[in-house]
Amino acid sequence: MVDYAVPSRRALLKSAALSTAGLVASPALGKLPAGPSWSGDPFSLGVAAGAPSLDGFVLWTRLAPDPLAAGSAGGMHGPSQPIAYEIATDDSMHHIVQHGAALAEAEFGYSVHKQVHGLRPGRPYWYRFTSGRAQSTIGRAMTLPEHGADKLRFAFFSCSHYEYGYFSPYRHAAEENPDFGIFLGDYIYEYADKRRPTVRTHSGGKECVTLAEYRARYTQYRLDPNLRFLHATTPSLATWDDHEVQNDYADKWGEDFQDPKAFLERRAAAYQTFYEFMPVKPVFSRPHGPNMRLYDRYDFGDLMRVDMIDGRQYRSREACYGDPAKKEGHGGGGHQETPAACLELLDASRSMIGLAQEKWLFEGLATSKAKWNLIANDVLMARLHQKNPAGEDAFWTDDWDGYPASRTRLMLHIAASKPSNPVVITGDIHSFWANDLKVDFDDPKSPTIASELVGTSITSYGPPYELFNTFLPNNPHVKFFDSRKRGYVMVDLTRERLSARYQVVSDITDPNASLSTLASFVVEDGKPGPVAA
Ligand code: FE
Ligand code: CA
Repeated sequence: MVDYAVPSRRALLKSAALSTAGLVASPALGKLPAGPSWSGDPFSLGVAAGAPSLDGFVLWTRLAPDPLAAGSAGGMHGPSQPIAYEIATDDSMHHIVQHGAALAEAEFGYSVHKQVHGLRPGRPYWYRFTSGRAQSTIGRAMTLPEHGADKLRFAFFSCSHYEYGYFSPYRHAAEENPDFGIFLGDYIYEYADKRRPTVRTHSGGKECVTLAEYRARYTQYRLDPNLRFLHATTPSLATWDDHEVQNDYADKWGEDFQDPKAFLERRAAAYQTFYEFMPVKPVFSRPHGPNMRLYDRYDFGDLMRVDMIDGRQYRSREACYGDPAKKEGHGGGGHQETPAACLELLDASRSMIGLAQEKWLFEGLATSKAKWNLIANDVLMARLHQKNPAGEDAFWTDDWDGYPASRTRLMLHIAASKPSNPVVITGDIHSFWANDLKVDFDDPKSPTIASELVGTSITSYGPPYELFNTFLPNNPHVKFFDSRKRGYVMVDLTRERLSARYQVVSDITDPNASLSTLASFVVEDGKPGPVAA
């Protein structure tokens, strides 16, 4: 981004370390009420910015003076509370350009989603919150650039399971100073693992179902210093995958054959908690019962359009759901199917993202003037020919292989409407991939029309490396696969090329894990398909 003043790592560390209960020194706040006196730091869960526009963004915090208090209200009670915010053009908050009041809404767990306007495009800003004598960490936000922007750096993340390791990838990503980050889902995990090695234990030691349980889980994640550091230093965009609610759910169908009505109550609690903890738009994304609009579009000038899609809320029920003979321990959710045994897979009326969202996505791709068109997507889009334990051709019902007609519609639309440089970024599968996307994955001569970059998990266990390697000869559109490392993907984008580094940490059980680059791929302007760099 052209006029981004990139703060030094030292400045970032300094600003993220500054925190809590300092005296309010800012002259900008002179006219505000004195506010309550706090017994604990009300900003214990940190700050975050997201949902950028040309002239603003959303600022987030959540009042929690006693974050682990029983009942998950963070030690808060009573009506909604006004707090103060300030926005500056420098990381020391000397040049304040806007200040005012924001509301911590009781109905949403005393979370703040302040929609800010009136700022300049294409630059970073810094912000903080104040209540009484308590002051938050200083956070960094950004506005979207106007046409002419020629450079961007962003990271993408998925699958951070708190129990399996420390969130060092989040800290390393923040220290690379990306303009922003994208969460692709499994930001939290709803269950507690009793089977595999863990280094930490999930709140309550069991699966979340109620609002109080989801709130306690997000609170635990946000008390992690590396995740809090990432949010304070790095504005973000977010979509979700299944574990924000339940493993492998699809719309109102859970994986345990629950009554859909009961499952929707659980989904309402989970979506509300996502809203309460993420820097998403206050009106647009405000949840209504079990419904919450998350899919959205961001234009970074004419350099990049990002379509953030929602692959869970509107998807058709997983194919051949609810056949106990086939559930293989996965209940009603994802499982391996053979095409011969599951004709439902081919039903053209089934959709991964719902027909309304398909229409929205297709219009966005067809009308885009951007040089790069990113689709931020939760689950693997490329076809993956697998063999089941009986040696038969099989595929997985929870990713796009379970929705082949929906995928073919998207591929045909891309082939026909020809958006410039379509690139899909993906999480969920806990492994790195670089894939060519095609209309017909069964025909190696089918032209490559788009690229897919898949990032590994932050901490979650990867799929079996040797087994998946045996699938690769039958999947020539897969250019790279590795499931053995945890990390993230860092992208440097110019008009000429997209350069992606597959970043890995040395050991997720070591809080001081070091960072290295496992592989690098580029997509050149006008040449679909990632190429090893
Ligand atoms: Fe995951
Ligand atoms: Ca997932």
